[in-house]
Amino acid sequence: MKPKLFDRLLIQVRRQIRSCLNCQPADEGKPYWAYDQEICIDELFDRCDVPDLMRAQMVRYLKCPTCQKYFEQYDSVGIEIEQLQRQDDQNQEAA
Ligand SMILES: [Zn+2]
Repeated sequence: MKPKLFDRLLIQVRRQIRSCLNCQPADEGKPYWAYDQEICIDELFDRCDVPDLMRAQMVRYLKCPTCQKYFEQYDSVGIEIEQLQRQDDQNQEAA
């Protein structure tokens, strides 16, 4: 395992996580995704090309930036909604 790759991917994944379900508003006691786009952490790993071997380890470094809750690999997290809709523009913004 290459530590540098791990760190780089960790930063990339962390940057996208904005919230967890606990941080969303609740309707009659049931929280729902109001502000952020719901995504499974494992799917977020797919998007960031995180190798399978690193996933179990990496998830231990991930927590909700709002409530500090730690995640499991198949938990849902909230990411910025725009990121999904504007993927084509991202190359220009990154430059
Ligand atoms: Zn949270």
